[in-house]
Amino acid sequence: MNREDHYVREREVSVADHYETLGVSKDASAAEIKSSYRKLARKYHPDVNPGHEDEFKAISLAYDVLSDPDKRRNYDMGGGENGQGFPAGGGAGFGGFGDIFETFFGGGSGQAGGPIPRTQRGKDALVGVNIDLKTAAFGGTVDLDVTTAVVCDTCSGAGTQAGTKIETCSLCHGAGSVQRMTRTLLGQMVTNQTCNSCHGFGTVIPNPCLNCQGDGRVRKQRTMKIRIPAGVSDGTRIQLSSQGEVGPGGGPAGDLFVEVMVTRHEVFQRDGDNLRAAVSVPMTAAALGATIPFETFDGAQDLTIAAGTQSGTVVKLSGLGAARLRSETRGDLLITVDVLTPDKLDDEQRELFEKLAQLRGEETPRAQISTENRGVFSRMRERFAGR
Ligand SMILES: [Zn+2]
Ligand SMILES: [Zn+2]
Repeated sequence: MNREDHYVREREVSVADHYETLGVSKDASAAEIKSSYRKLARKYHPDVNPGHEDEFKAISLAYDVLSDPDKRRNYDMGGGENGQGFPAGGGAGFGGFGDIFETFFGGGSGQAGGPIPRTQRGKDALVGVNIDLKTAAFGGTVDLDVTTAVVCDTCSGAGTQAGTKIETCSLCHGAGSVQRMTRTLLGQMVTNQTCNSCHGFGTVIPNPCLNCQGDGRVRKQRTMKIRIPAGVSDGTRIQLSSQGEVGPGGGPAGDLFVEVMVTRHEVFQRDGDNLRAAVSVPMTAAALGATIPFETFDGAQDLTIAAGTQSGTVVKLSGLGAARLRSETRGDLLITVDVLTPDKLDDEQRELFEKLAQLRGEETPRAQISTENRGVFSRMRERFAGR
């Protein structure tokens, strides 16, 4: 697999709001969704109102997603734009949009542009893969099990039994559709209806392949090695050309999109190109200064705690952060220092602290109002703003 067919696309999914499309609220019941869909579908059906195919498609896609409890849940959780989310085992299913069209209209709308080709490009598929923070930050290879449609090896995609052929449909004579006069609420209409004999293909397979039932493809699980480029983050999609499902009739494969999900790391957190961690140091070390070893992804590093370090101070280890996508450079490792106040003092320690307080004139402390940057709230703001 070379670099060209393995590029990374940052998340740029424009998710059509299916609820808005159907004009229903997010908590609409199944009945409301169905009723709204029927109303809109009647209005925009291409036979009734030509020129609104896009609206009609959007409505049908919205209904396809929202009428299926699983797809709807996925969609609500921000899954794929088609509501496919991450199908268990990977790979988008067969069917989809076309199915709903036919079930509702009992035969579909017919093919304005002639018969449906039996050979078509396969669908793109979206699968999720969990990777750890280190792989996301520095790249690596992961194994991914993908269940997808592959060319049927019995018929090599032709869909026919050996020695038999595809034949022209005798009912529509290859057109894929038949004209029909129908009486509707809107008056009499001539509609192009999908040919019931060939289902719009214009051809029939008298002896379909027994392995694939004429589809030319079968579902199969395979394990792929996916190269994770350094610097990907949660939601990054890796596009693998022609690794999606193959099309019906041995058509070319669609693309496979692999969306990475980065699992939590117990020490490090990702913050853009930077990595973040937190350490606790004793109050004495914070006051006197110290150098303490700290294990990073690049091995043990010296973490320098300057004398007089306050709780919340961020120590930067330049260039030890995550790799930047498509770049040789790296972000920084930012370590937030928490100062531990000693508890459970023994008598001698208590005496020493009392002595120290005396020497510093702090025997009767007063609360100081902090107005400068060192105020506790500013420090918290800094911490949350990632400075
Ligand atoms: Zn076959
Ligand atoms: Zn036909």
